[in-house]
Amino acid sequence: MTMPLIDPFARAITYLRVSVTDRCDFRCVYCMSENMTFLPKKELLTLEELDRLCSTFVDLGVQKLRITGGEPLVRRGIMTFFQSMSRHLDSGRLQELTLTTNGSQLERFADDLYAAGVRRVNVSLDTLDEKKFAEITRWGRLPQVLRGIDAAQRAGLRVKINAVALKGFNEEELPQITQWCAARDIDLTWIEVMPMGDIGNEDRLDQYWSLKDVRAKYAEHYTITDLAERTGGPARYVRLEETGQKIGFITPLSHNFCESCNRVRVTCTGEIYMCLGQEDVADLRAPLREHPEDDAPLQQAIRAAIERKPKGHDFDYSRQRLDGQMPRHMSHTGG
Ligand code: SAM
Ligand code: SF4
Repeated sequence: MTMPLIDPFARAITYLRVSVTDRCDFRCVYCMSENMTFLPKKELLTLEELDRLCSTFVDLGVQKLRITGGEPLVRRGIMTFFQSMSRHLDSGRLQELTLTTNGSQLERFADDLYAAGVRRVNVSLDTLDEKKFAEITRWGRLPQVLRGIDAAQRAGLRVKINAVALKGFNEEELPQITQWCAARDIDLTWIEVMPMGDIGNEDRLDQYWSLKDVRAKYAEHYTITDLAERTGGPARYVRLEETGQKIGFITPLSHNFCESCNRVRVTCTGEIYMCLGQEDVADLRAPLREHPEDDAPLQQAIRAAIERKPKGHDFDYSRQRLDGQMPRHMSHTGG
């Protein structure tokens, strides 16, 4: 039997997030600069290589696979990848195949995703105001995303909205966004903005809206109860008693969640990041390409990387400096 992946701090690695492209049809101000330079195509893992890589992780005990990007649904042929991954759902070795998307292509792909065994999808949406949406995403258009969300729900996919909490931007919209989600039976999670990548003039300390304050804002409108639910990641949940809604908070900067971390991230070039907040990285593309017929070197490289998984990250806004700032973009590691 293959030994599962256990890191030096006795954490089992059962969750893999894979970025399948660094490209995107949006240019969200907190994520990318308007003139992003993207990787040359030959650097990217092919869909077949991504399949082999993910399947090797499944062989090593990964049970949950999240596909992200960039925008995963703009990668050409990505639906064949989803269809192919569904064999691991059928075999019962993979428990969940899911994705994080900006929603722009969901209208086109929702049914195919469902057919491939996807049951839940995270859609990133920071505002319900058309003008503000165009401002924050630069290239995105709200009606297209809303049609995508409708299509996803019609297809039978459970939708969760991820909203980046931005001071002075969507602060006042909190009750509307919450009610909009409640009316559609959509879960909602707020994410604290993180210091990732060099994205031009946006000053993240100005944008930073602490989720402690978001929570306080909820307390003005609702009775909130803390929930014990944990996913091995940074999310914490509360229930709004008036609506029965579950609201998530992802606070990578102000909370220490690392002790229960169960995940690693792989980029579209086959680099494995053992921690979102640390620079340490290992290359999986070389063992993948150099040994097309033999998975053992790839398995060894994965195990060696997991052996180096650090205890935690170093983000810290508390001193009002961008301590622990990461030079790479979220679109690179996939958030
Ligand atoms: N394009 C897809 C999307 O937007 O959902 C998937 C990739 S995107 C990088 C994944 C998530 O990262 C999105 O929810 C996005 O809002 C979030 N994100 C991007 N830059 C961020 C930042 N600087 N701080 C916090 N979250 C960020
Ligand atoms: Fe694209 Fe997602 Fe980054 Fe926005 S957050 S630019 S949609 S990758």
